[in-house]
Amino acid sequence: MAKRMNEGLKLYSKGNVEIELFDDDLMIFCVKGSKGEKYQVSMHENMWLCDCDDYQYRSEREPGSFICKHLWAVFFEIADMDDE
Ligand SMILES: [Zn+2]
Repeated sequence: MAKRMNEGLKLYSKGNVEIELFDDDLMIFCVKGSKGEKYQVSMHENMWLCDCDDYQYRSEREPGSFICKHLWAVFFEIADMDDE
């Protein structure tokens, strides 16, 4: 878990998180991975989703409890917005 959090922090620090939609009940982000690949992270009715393989694979085994590095990157982005 800590490793993914660190990787997420790195993606966020590099400015790899783009906000596409930001509403109370629907948020969509585009996160650029370390190799330039793009992933879509979304939040709908408090359910977070990422379309990366890591998330698809792990969330099947642990539904709702898994946070991939792209989700972490988005969380850092949101935490930063609250500071402003
Ligand atoms: Zn992901």
